[in-house]
Amino acid sequence: MTSQPSAPEKLWLSGNEALALGAHEASVKVASGYPGTPSTEILENVVNYSEIYTEWAPNEKVGLEVAIGASFAGVRALATMKHVGLNVAADPLFTASYTGVRGGLVIVVADDPSMYSSQNEQDSRNYAYAAKLPMLEPADPGEAKDFLKIAYHLSEEYDTPVLLRSCTRVSHVKGIVTSGQVESSALTPGIELLPAKLVMLPANARNRRVEVEKRQQRLRELAETSELNRIEPGDNKIGFIAAGTSYLYVKEAFPEATVLKLGLVYPLPEQLIRDFAARVEKLYVVEDLDPFLETRIKAMGIACIGKEVIPAIGELTPSVVRRAITGQAPADLFEPVELPPRPPNMCPGCPHRGLFYNLNRLKVFVSGDIGCYTLGFLPPLSAMDACVCMGASVGMAHGMDKALGEEAQGKVVAVIGDSTFLHTGLNGLINSVYNKGCSTIIILDNRITGMTGQQPNPASGTTINYDPSPTIDFPELCRAVGVKHVRTVNPHEIEATYQVLKEEIARPEVSVVITRFPCVLTVDEKKRPKKPFHSVTENCTGCTMCLRLGCPAINWQPLTPEEAKAMGKKEKQKGYALINEDMCIGCGQCYELCKFEAISKEEVSR
Ligand code: SF4
Ligand code: SF4
Repeated sequence: MTSQPSAPEKLWLSGNEALALGAHEASVKVASGYPGTPSTEILENVVNYSEIYTEWAPNEKVGLEVAIGASFAGVRALATMKHVGLNVAADPLFTASYTGVRGGLVIVVADDPSMYSSQNEQDSRNYAYAAKLPMLEPADPGEAKDFLKIAYHLSEEYDTPVLLRSCTRVSHVKGIVTSGQVESSALTPGIELLPAKLVMLPANARNRRVEVEKRQQRLRELAETSELNRIEPGDNKIGFIAAGTSYLYVKEAFPEATVLKLGLVYPLPEQLIRDFAARVEKLYVVEDLDPFLETRIKAMGIACIGKEVIPAIGELTPSVVRRAITGQAPADLFEPVELPPRPPNMCPGCPHRGLFYNLNRLKVFVSGDIGCYTLGFLPPLSAMDACVCMGASVGMAHGMDKALGEEAQGKVVAVIGDSTFLHTGLNGLINSVYNKGCSTIIILDNRITGMTGQQPNPASGTTINYDPSPTIDFPELCRAVGVKHVRTVNPHEIEATYQVLKEEIARPEVSVVITRFPCVLTVDEKKRPKKPFHSVTENCTGCTMCLRLGCPAINWQPLTPEEAKAMGKKEKQKGYALINEDMCIGCGQCYELCKFEAISKEEVSR
């Protein structure tokens, strides 16, 4: 994949694959980020280009800082993240706007309208405005690749980090992408001492603030003539201003209309917008999420219709746009396919299941975090009571302790995954120790970043390309920050885990319980031979204890009184549990719960 194509090739790529190709063609040298849907596959594809040094960072702030450092060393650098990750990276982002760059620096941020896999809807265009940075917004994978390369040129020419906004639909849809030449870099990597530009103490920052304003003015001028912003002539009765996927929805819903397509969504081309508005009878601004363009266009004194009719919540589609404007819409060409319902659930054999079963028994308030284990919220486990953002569980539990004093003693725990703990949970733990808290923090160490697709993290023992690397020792780390009581358990051992949790939760000081067992989807676990458990149906009393785990491999078979009698069971038995041996991976949690020897680990001859 690293060879330079001799002639353009038509490729069928997702937006994330296209962005990786764009990084390759732009001669990016360093790429860093934190996994987060819908952005994850960008780095997973960048890593295939061996000339680009690629790494997973423990969080988005670090990822961006790595990219900033690489840019300061005179090479092109890429940072990738999802929208909520940009909040984490916001601190360096705002100051990098002042320092500017040496090598081109692009931050790709992927928004998730409709929250397919996110805790909030967030419009990253607001960061472009707030941090005073240019933002490009491609509409499809082909543009994603081309815009990334343009972004590097803008970055170096205007001495600025550049934001590139993707979204779920661009990141994951496949489209035709034409490969291009790999650019040769005009930059000379090396250390250059530029303290007035790179050291943001107040005196320097005040000077750079002026430079930022000059840059803004130059970018506004660029926006007026850039090919990124183009008018597509049509019927002037109705005109649309749109960017990104919204542009495609407008084109599909109103193919005859006049459209101003914006590729540079910040800063805006004010005169171009005025000229466009003057040539159409009625002007609509179509954009998903916030009225970002609309607010600015209205502030220019230009009459337009936007969120009065266009939904501000969720992802748009062509039919949503058409219905919003005409009050009626034919069926979409591609109506969503009705899929069989598949309730979210942890995998069979997930090590988190035993922990949540125990937390439910202990009747504690569970301050939760972001990861697969957030599914502990769902019945039958129903053992998560709050969840805000990455790393927040530890601080929230401490806050509850401090708010309630003795009343909270023994009643509040925080749960947090290994990757999330290293992302932003560790600081919360330091705070709890420092400020003499008394919550119990449970680190769910499944050796991997599970929810985004098994990306390694500093506790996994490998880098992004599975080279061995040092592994964080959680007990040592926790002791090093001052936790006196650290215990490690195997969460599949339900009773043993219960006893440890009970003791630690009762402790009137900070303690840490590490539930350590690999995710069933890690490469090693997948290779490990599995011995499924099986049901001894004649012994099952239908007590439903095993069902409380919510393991998808255990099915409930209902019985009528007649059927129960025919099976030799009591007439009042409502059913029995049956293990699907093709799904069972033999974790043993249900075996431990069954008091009637109705679950067996003896191999059955089939
Ligand atoms: S042993 Fe029980 S709990 Fe574990 S995967 Fe099999 S059926 Fe599910
Ligand atoms: S398998 Fe055991 S725990 Fe599950 S319902 Fe039957 S008797 Fe109860």
